[in-house]
Amino acid sequence: MRKNIVAGNWKMNKNLQEGLELAKGLNEALEGKTPNCDVIIGTPFIHLASVVDAIDTNKIGVAAENCADKASGAYTGEVSAEMVASTGAKYVILGHSERRAYYHETPEILKEKVLLALANGLTPIFCIGEVLEEREAGKHFDVVKSQIEGSLFNLAAQDFGKIILAYEPVWAIGTGKTATAEQAQEMHAFIRKTLADKYGKEVADNCSILYGGSCKPSNAKELFANPDVDGGLIGGAALEVDSFMGIINAF
Ligand code: PEP
Repeated sequence: MRKNIVAGNWKMNKNLQEGLELAKGLNEALEGKTPNCDVIIGTPFIHLASVVDAIDTNKIGVAAENCADKASGAYTGEVSAEMVASTGAKYVILGHSERRAYYHETPEILKEKVLLALANGLTPIFCIGEVLEEREAGKHFDVVKSQIEGSLFNLAAQDFGKIILAYEPVWAIGTGKTATAEQAQEMHAFIRKTLADKYGKEVADNCSILYGGSCKPSNAKELFANPDVDGGLIGGAALEVDSFMGIINAF
C-alpha cells in the first residue's frame, strides 16, 4: 500500500553548519514520536554524508536534490547516483521545475537520471507540473502526462513501483499561491489514472503522489485530506523545524 510522505527540499539554502543544525533539530523534534507519515529531507550534496551521520535515518530519510545523467568519468562538477548512494542517502529528487527551467533538463536527460538512480538503489522523487500559461490554456493535464510518459514510461512495472511522484504546479512554487485542495485532487486523480492505464490499478494505487507548492502548516491538512494526495514536497517551510513539523503533524 502507498505511504504518506512529507519530504523537504532545502534547495540551495543553508551552509553545512546551518544544515546540520536544522537536521539535528528535526531529529530532536521527532524523538519519541511516531508520525503518521514517512519523513524525508532533501539537502544539497555537501550536506548528505554529515546529515546521514547526525540523524536517526530510520526516522528521517535523506535525499539528494539531483544526480548526474552519467554513471562516472570526466564530468567535472557532477555528482553521480552512485556517489549519492555511498553517503547513505536513500532518495533523490529529480525533475524539479527549477532544474528543468534553469539547467535545461529534458525528459531524455531525466530518463537517464531515473535509470541511474534506480540502478544504485535510490528512490527517485520525480517532480512534474505545469507552468501558469499551460494551466491557463487548459493544457495542464497534457503537460503532466507527457512529463510522466517522457521520462518514466520506459520503466517496467516493478521499477515504476519504486518511484515517488511529486505534482508541483510551477505557478505555486515559492509564490505563496497554493493550488486549491480541489485542483490538487483533480490532478492527482488524473495522474493515478494515467498510471493505471499504463501499469494497471495495483501499481497506480501503490504509488505515493505528493503535492508541492507553497504547502505550509496552515494548508497541509486540507491538501492531505484528499484521497489521492499522499503528502507533500516542501520547499520554504522545510527550512525551519517548527513549520516542517507543523506539516508532518498535519497527518
Ligand atoms: C519546491 O520547490 O519543491 C516547493 C514546493 O517549494 P515551496 O514549498 O517553497 O513552494
